Amino acid sequence: MSGENWRCLACGIMNNPLSTTCCICGNVDDFLALQNENATLRQQLAEAREKNSTIAMVFNRLLEETKWQPIETAPKDGTWLVVFTALGSCFIARWNQRHEEWAVPGSGLANVIYWKPLGPFPGGEADHAG
Ligand SMILES: [Zn+2]
Repeated sequence: MSGENWRCLACGIMNNPLSTTCCICGNVDDFLALQNENATLRQQLAEAREKNSTIAMVFNRLLEETKWQPIETAPKDGTWLVVFTALGSCFIARWNQRHEEWAVPGSGLANVIYWKPLGPFPGGEADHAG
């Protein structure tokens, strides 16, 4: 970008392209200084864009992960989930292996049609005795 020697407008000496300040009189080459500043700004802009797209990606993934999903796709490994029934009720439930049904503690649920992840319990426990 700034690959050529530049002549100082104040004293006329040729200067190294890596320096924006004249090595003899200290005069600042405004054009070079501006170019360097622009390069820095471009770099910052690129970093900000990348950060934004990362945030957008994480946000979209979270959005996707917390959508209601058909109950057929729910994990049946005993994980507690938020479930939704055909009657419009919400429960915190999990799959009961023995009775082969979605269940809240002490009772099975009928007509479960959707689920979404409950997420970790306070303290970071993924599972909880029920
Ligand atoms: Zn100079």
